[in-house]
Amino acid sequence: MSDENSTGPMGPHGPDAATAREEMLKVYPKKTQRKRGKQMLVNEEPGTPAEIGANSRTVPGIITQRGCSYAGCKGVVIGPIYDILHITHGPIGCGWYSWLSRRNITKIRGEGETNYLQYSMSTDMQEDHIVFGGEKQLAAAIQEAYDEFHPKAISVYATCPVGLIGDDIHTVCRTMKEKLGINIFGFSCEGYKGVSQSAGHHIANNGVFKHMIGLDDSPVEAKYKINILGEYNIGGDAWEIDRILDLCGIHIIGTLSGGVSYGEICNCHMADLNVVMCHRSINYMAEMMEEKFGIPWFKVNFIGIEGTKKSLRKIAQYFGDKELIDRVEEVIAAEMSEVKPILDDITTRTTGKTAALFVGGSRAHHYQDLFTDMDMKVIAAGYEFAHRDDYEGRDVLPHIKVDADSRNIEELTVTADETRFDASKPEKKKSLEENGFTFSDYEGMMRQMAKDTLVIDDISHHEMEKLIEMYHPDVIGSGIKDKYIIEKMGVPCKQLHSYDYGGPYAGFKGAINFYKEIDRMTGSKVWKLARAPWHEDGSAPAAEKETTTASA
Ligand code: SF4
Repeated sequence: MSDENSTGPMGPHGPDAATAREEMLKVYPKKTQRKRGKQMLVNEEPGTPAEIGANSRTVPGIITQRGCSYAGCKGVVIGPIYDILHITHGPIGCGWYSWLSRRNITKIRGEGETNYLQYSMSTDMQEDHIVFGGEKQLAAAIQEAYDEFHPKAISVYATCPVGLIGDDIHTVCRTMKEKLGINIFGFSCEGYKGVSQSAGHHIANNGVFKHMIGLDDSPVEAKYKINILGEYNIGGDAWEIDRILDLCGIHIIGTLSGGVSYGEICNCHMADLNVVMCHRSINYMAEMMEEKFGIPWFKVNFIGIEGTKKSLRKIAQYFGDKELIDRVEEVIAAEMSEVKPILDDITTRTTGKTAALFVGGSRAHHYQDLFTDMDMKVIAAGYEFAHRDDYEGRDVLPHIKVDADSRNIEELTVTADETRFDASKPEKKKSLEENGFTFSDYEGMMRQMAKDTLVIDDISHHEMEKLIEMYHPDVIGSGIKDKYIIEKMGVPCKQLHSYDYGGPYAGFKGAINFYKEIDRMTGSKVWKLARAPWHEDGSAPAAEKETTTASA
């Protein structure tokens, strides 16, 4: 089975994918082997992906890269709304953990607007609040924040201890909303609410939908109006997407949630179309907005030049206006004249190099396109908090069993808004579908991955170490928590949660940034010299391993 000189899908080094999987699993006790075995697959039939174990609890004792539900709610989805005051009700550690660690940057755009994102507000719960309850303290914190800043809205996030002692944050929020006359709402996003940050995304979607969407019916004067859902402006990605769509003449009402204001979210139901970047974190919102207002949605990807081109063309086709379709082609041609010579040059050095990606709930898929642009092979990939549909495609949704963890999250019952449901939109959707246009769909990651590559859900530190030992990929795209483990083993890590200090990587200019970064990282000699202190006895195989493709 094992073939050290294989040049198959797993690259120039290491065993075939099935052997690698066995090797990773063999250290575990039998019960853990059975569980992890379902979450680690060889992608044997990309056209009809096998069922993967996903969105299940991490085995205690395995070191996971996941975040908690609070991190998904406040840290990912709501936190980037810059003119809301975000108050964490809980011990200070939770608030500290979520303080700008996602690097979703923003800037003030309108007269008199305020950016509160640089603040980390918390009720700083102490032992006596745990014993006697923290509701009074929360009310006092809301009052203090209001007196100091007079924001348009305040959002409150419950962390683990709050849920355990039973503080009713929603009643406190309602009382303070009546008292202060501004929008104040809470999220029961205690860290333990789900198996990962994914639960927090769902809770956040529900809260945004209940407390913000549809509050402002002001008409938007633009010919083509869309929302971008699931784009968090890490490193300025949303600004690059804004730039391209603006060149095409397409207006974005709201980007949920990257560089976005409270007012834009309240008004974003006025859009003609929702396009979804990160399917996992926000597909709930797309579904609910379609149900209530009739706004259709489809999946896009602005990471990678082919994905960007395809997405722009699809948006133009949706509107079906020749002027827009032509304009999009002009923009693509102009942007590609800058991208192509740079990519052609970089590809001479990156062709055949290997990458692995273990990020989030869409990035491990999206970023494969950028590596494909550079003629690199992705030998293994997986998500931290995805569900089966993110791997296998939305057609498996009816077959996913609802378990106790999923039942923990509120499912909103949404019906058509009597006055604001726009029936012309579903009619347009139907007629486009009859001509082969696809909506409300996502084919998932495995269909696009090569045959016989590894797909690993919720990868552990042990599995990552084995992967590096066996394959020594030229680069790994990963998150903040595993970055240093990877680098200590002599492999460059492109940190794709917050990009460290890099980015943007979306769109055309972002792609150029990414190509240059990967060229620099995979061409550097420094990784062969990297040795952790505990390897001074000479047992540092990864650091010393030469690859046939590495630059001299
Ligand atoms: S798991 Fe609980 S205690 Fe830990 S950061 Fe999340 S909310 Fe806070």
